[in-house]
Amino acid sequence: MHEELATSVPFIEGRGEVFCRGCLGKELFSGLDLGDLPIANELLKSSKGSLEKFPLHLRVCSDCGLGQVADVVTPERIFRDYRYLSSMSTTFLQHASDFVNQRVQEGLLAPGDWVLEIASNDGYLLRNFLPFGIIAIGIEPAENVAEISRGLGVHTISEFFSSQLAQELLAKYGYPKLIIANNVMAHVPDLRDFIKGLAILCGTETQISIENPSLANILIGMQFDTIYHEHYSYLSATAVATVSRKNGLQLFKVEELPIHGGSNRYWLRNFSEKNSVDQSVQIIFEVEKDSGLFEASEWLDYSVKVSKILADFRKWLGERSEKGRRVYGYGAAAKASTILNSIDLEFGLISAIGDASQEKQNRFMPPLGIEIISPEELFMENPTDVVIFPWNIKEEIANYLRANLGEGVQLWCAIPEMRQVCE
Ligand SMILES: [Zn+2]
Repeated sequence: MHEELATSVPFIEGRGEVFCRGCLGKELFSGLDLGDLPIANELLKSSKGSLEKFPLHLRVCSDCGLGQVADVVTPERIFRDYRYLSSMSTTFLQHASDFVNQRVQEGLLAPGDWVLEIASNDGYLLRNFLPFGIIAIGIEPAENVAEISRGLGVHTISEFFSSQLAQELLAKYGYPKLIIANNVMAHVPDLRDFIKGLAILCGTETQISIENPSLANILIGMQFDTIYHEHYSYLSATAVATVSRKNGLQLFKVEELPIHGGSNRYWLRNFSEKNSVDQSVQIIFEVEKDSGLFEASEWLDYSVKVSKILADFRKWLGERSEKGRRVYGYGAAAKASTILNSIDLEFGLISAIGDASQEKQNRFMPPLGIEIISPEELFMENPTDVVIFPWNIKEEIANYLRANLGEGVQLWCAIPEMRQVCE
């Protein structure tokens, strides 16, 4: 019954019932209900417009530990015209080149091998393989972003990854030596078909590397602003191991990374009883269990804490306004949308939001149509306070703002609580 339903309806909320998209379990409890919000990466084209809103409710599966929100919007709507370029951040560029150099140094790859990256964005990672004579193929559904990648010489296929596409790739190129899926599993409504696709392409010598922010950090680090409609799933090591095992794959190592405010890198390969599993796997299972990740009561406490953070942020904005301060935002990222749409924002409390992406400039952040301006325009406005929304790269942004705005400006983050950024 479950199998049939999930195959025909790859949504967690179907026919009045809620299913886990990872394991098809039905025991999901409420993690955090943020109410109705617009889609985080959709921006207004004028200051007077409005956007459609959809429920945003994180639930956690008691059986496999996967966090998830209902897929009320399709990936086509979100990703065909995507405005997020990985190479906008020097932190991500360094992280990508370090990853490639490590794999080559450890001998995982040799000239002539091929590497597949799913959701290869603008080619910021794959391009690092080219000087080593390694064949790099990217899958990137956003045509506007894929085109940038092709310009760097990375062969890029503009499709969504699926078991069907995996079959086609296997027939054409054989098994890759390495499959990279960074920050993509969260974006996949039919997670089971995605993992089936990974299993199809996993040969005896293939390793799969998956990086994703961890559900444990959302809980422990108060990172609730990383919950948005584009992120259908929130991975834990426990969930990755369970869902992979169902598809003949084995989680054999987990690395904890500082990027994105705490991500895990999950290493998978074909399952075999003979394989030794790194001790990092067992350790992280225990950490997740001990953190209360799979307990509804822990998440209830969490909801109370989130309400307080939102109230504190709103209060802070009001107080700054009363003092006649000129408050601006920086980074019109999805995180900004989640937090700004979760508070009772009044017009004028944030004058504008600076963002280096030309794709976002001259658009407006909902709900009130806060204008998105270039960094140069922001510098001209001479703000007294800037709230940095992408806290995961706050040091990088703070250094940049400080260099251009001088010592007088105060730089802030609202997560995990309202505080000044220490550079
Ligand atoms: Zn589950």
